[in-house]
Amino acid sequence: MADTVRVRMAPSPTGRLHVGSAHTALFNYLFARHHGGTFILRIEDTDMTRNTAESLQSIFDGLRWLGLDWDEGPEDAGVRAREGETYQDYLQRVLANGERGEAGPYFQTQRLPLYEEHARKLLESGKAYRCYCTPEELEQSREEQKARGVKAPKYSGRCRQLSAEQEAAFVAEGRKPCLRLRVSDEGVTAFDDLVRGRIEFENKEIDDLILLKSNGYPTYHFGVVVDDALMRITHVIRGEEHISNTPPQILMYEALGFPVPQFAHLPLLLGRDRKKLSKRHGATEIFAYRDKGVLPEAMFNFLALIGWSPGEGETQEIFTREELIQRFSLAHVSKASGIFDLEKLEWMNATYIRQMDLEQLLDACLPYLQQAGLLPLSPVNSLSHEPMNPLTRAYALRVLALTRERMRYLPDVVEQTNYFFTDDFPRDAKAVAKWLSDAETQERLKVLRDRLSQVGAWTITTLENVVRQYADEIGQPAARLIHPLRVACTGRTVGPGLFETMAVLGRERCLKRLSA
Ligand code: GLU
Repeated sequence: MADTVRVRMAPSPTGRLHVGSAHTALFNYLFARHHGGTFILRIEDTDMTRNTAESLQSIFDGLRWLGLDWDEGPEDAGVRAREGETYQDYLQRVLANGERGEAGPYFQTQRLPLYEEHARKLLESGKAYRCYCTPEELEQSREEQKARGVKAPKYSGRCRQLSAEQEAAFVAEGRKPCLRLRVSDEGVTAFDDLVRGRIEFENKEIDDLILLKSNGYPTYHFGVVVDDALMRITHVIRGEEHISNTPPQILMYEALGFPVPQFAHLPLLLGRDRKKLSKRHGATEIFAYRDKGVLPEAMFNFLALIGWSPGEGETQEIFTREELIQRFSLAHVSKASGIFDLEKLEWMNATYIRQMDLEQLLDACLPYLQQAGLLPLSPVNSLSHEPMNPLTRAYALRVLALTRERMRYLPDVVEQTNYFFTDDFPRDAKAVAKWLSDAETQERLKVLRDRLSQVGAWTITTLENVVRQYADEIGQPAARLIHPLRVACTGRTVGPGLFETMAVLGRERCLKRLSA
């Protein structure tokens, strides 16, 4: 298989990139990279009324955020959609950058002559026919079938055998034909799904589907088949909602004389209540998670483990991108639906925050710290990527090393670290009242401050020694001193180890806070 695998993701630019689409894209990407194949992005934009510039851009941005770089497809070169820009205008600006790959165009609206050409072939060979039925007539026929108890009404076949005179008469009436595939009522259409095994459909259940609409645009089915064939797609990996679309598509490949690709239908994403993933379960747009402060690496890992596992009895859950690429196989995609479990995502994100390279974590946290005013904006006022003062950076790295255990999402960094960066941090009023108000405590804190101001090196050990020794002298458990000290220095009762915290905060800050 090594150098021949070609797979694609084929989203419609309607609505912002859904986590389900990202999941499908990710599995295609892993499969392509595992086999050293080609991952193609094709935009199915034939529904002109629903395309939006924002949606197209969200596809580019979403794939990039997850690191799903495509080998062939649009070359958007980071061109941003403008406020209120139409799809057409944005598309033209994107197209102006050219495209990546030899099998383009990669936008269906730029491929209309190809659909026409292949439709014509089917018409000439009699495998397709013109249908002149109006929407009203089709609706009426459906109603009649339903009245007769037909559960899945089909096209009546009225236009299957029109004579040239009948066609001429329809044309004279001003009717505009669409083109339908002629499907035999005999036999079965079957395929070996790489996830689900053999799947068969009786041809009599398959409709004479429309290939080209009366406006000359291809239907989803015809567009997908012509494109997948011409782009030499070897494996169609897509959501399970497309299983019933596969038999008619296979009939189209056969009618066109194209080799039929292999199919793999991925499990649906469900919420924890096992219902189809929807807004009720939380956000369904991939960017909602980016905006919440999920790391792309964590999202990548999380999505990969929905509906796929590295193998029987394997308990490892944290995988690098390279490991996932290396271990991915369609054989381990499950038939059962996958659960989009937000608690697991939170756990995974927290795990990534704890384990990732500290410098990288700081870069990811920087915009939040700057927005909160805890770290200075760069001179040009950009939110990141400007070199930071190395001293500030070294300090911020020590702060993060200490506090990252307590972060679940990136924005948590503000709440967890504010007292390291400013003296004007929020203080827990209850804690202050409980631990700092009585005279005895204040007296003890004063003694501690004086002793602390005398220590030579401001280190974890020296700080701890001072506090423990004083606790011994007054015959009190060290906790009696540690709680008030923590509230005085950090404004709260919980946080990383007190002596570690004070060591990072530094002498000057701590003494100032103790004096206050
Ligand atoms: N545009 C279709 C979708 O987003 C593509 C389906 C397919 O992969 O065949 O669902």
